[in-house]
Amino acid sequence: MPIDPNFEENRELVDEHNGHDVWGPVEEPDTLGIHGTHVAVDFDICLADGACLEDCPVDVFEWVDTPGHPESEIKADPANEAQCIDCMLCVDVCPVDAIDVDAGRQGRA
Ligand code: SF4
Repeated sequence: MPIDPNFEENRELVDEHNGHDVWGPVEEPDTLGIHGTHVAVDFDICLADGACLEDCPVDVFEWVDTPGHPESEIKADPANEAQCIDCMLCVDVCPVDAIDVDAGRQGRA
């Protein structure tokens, strides 16, 4: 199942991590929620393919450790989402549709 592009309406803002929002539910280590708002990564879908890290022209993503998560034990964290130039490469290359990018969400959280 791809990331829900309407997560702002369907989820609650529960935390902040590395300067970006975290949208619940979060119940570690199995359920990690969505990280980011402008550049949103569903950590529960991410399987650490790495294409987004390789392809992002402005290095928005960084690996974070998520030991014990059933899909993968590292995740592509949108640590530098403010740098995003909305090229949509990451959205296109993600094999499991874990990423949604929408500049309209910037700063609304
Ligand atoms: S849309 Fe482009 S610039 Fe923004 S995070 Fe994805 S690959 Fe990087």
